[in-house]
Amino acid sequence: MKHVKLFIPGPIEVSEKTLQAFRSPMIGHRSNDFKKLYAEIQPKLQQLFCTTKPVYISTSSAWGVMEASLRNLVSKKVLCCMKGAFSDKWLDVATRCGKQADKLQVEWGQPITPEAVRAKLSEGGFDAMTLIHNETSTGTMSPLADICAVVKEFPEVRLIVDTVSSFSAVPIDFDQLGIDVLLTGSQKALALPPGIALFALSDAALERAATLKDRGYYFDFVEFQKNGAESMTPSTPSIGHIYALRSVLEDIFAEGIEARFARHTTTNQMVRDWAKSKGFDLFPKPGYESLSLTCIKNTRNLDIAAAVKQLREFGFSIDGGYGKIKDKTFRISNMGNETPDTMRELFSALDQVFPNP
Ligand SMILES: *Cc1c(COP(=O)(O)O)cnc(C)c1O
Repeated sequence: MKHVKLFIPGPIEVSEKTLQAFRSPMIGHRSNDFKKLYAEIQPKLQQLFCTTKPVYISTSSAWGVMEASLRNLVSKKVLCCMKGAFSDKWLDVATRCGKQADKLQVEWGQPITPEAVRAKLSEGGFDAMTLIHNETSTGTMSPLADICAVVKEFPEVRLIVDTVSSFSAVPIDFDQLGIDVLLTGSQKALALPPGIALFALSDAALERAATLKDRGYYFDFVEFQKNGAESMTPSTPSIGHIYALRSVLEDIFAEGIEARFARHTTTNQMVRDWAKSKGFDLFPKPGYESLSLTCIKNTRNLDIAAAVKQLREFGFSIDGGYGKIKDKTFRISNMGNETPDTMRELFSALDQVFPNP
């Protein structure tokens, strides 16, 4: 089968080096070799999360930790900030977990604003809030620092932030922002195979978790903390992923984290410029466009499904729009290892599929 290179917003292309690391021979998850591996990557993970706290590894996709955050932190009522498919779903998940939940809903393509958060939290009764920094379905990034500052005005509210498609593409400072749970997945901005999620916890998050009765076992934050202190995970992790993560961390720090951010800004601008050159607008409200993927409005009313299919013949995959904005939009990722050169390869294929206006 011919390899089709992924420019969809996850999973994204995984490098040969990462794949090699992923298929390393197995070791026992309670062995000294494993503890050494776990301890070796901690400082780099902490640097990436901008935290002095441990960073935990969950063998699950991001949703595992998204659900876990509700089960570990919500005792009264959670406010779910909703602006697209993933953030909307979080409310549904809260309800399915038996939690009291309320919503702050904005139109798809609009950001969550600090003012709206303040107004909603001021209604009272909340002890947690969920926020998706970069809503992948709409390519919309909300102003994280300003929202975090507002949540600090409500000391009882534990702030759960999903950075699945923005983590390591833009700076996110866990300690400084005062986030309680910062989580990310493996198959998006980190360019790993799908299957693990990473997260950091504040002291307040762990204190809250310890008081909640229905945390279960697999996703119990207190178990993660206890085992993490011994450089282990509560249950058998995907060891291949941890080798792959070590390899990705090597690459990130060899490039330099600032250079990585700058590269994402550059490649993202290239996608926006390409879209403009083809006569398209962007879907998100201006000023709130994601820097790791671009959600393009199908202003020309082209047959997006046909274009996506045709592009595969050229060896590239982009996304034809998510959920209710399928065909009305399409999405191109610049996450992971893409460079100006690899983006140009994509554009030359796109140019053959999308006619000039
Ligand atoms: C993809 C995505 C998720 C869900 O990730 P899974 O790996 O499927 O659990 C959650 N949040 C955001 C912002 C995403 O982009």
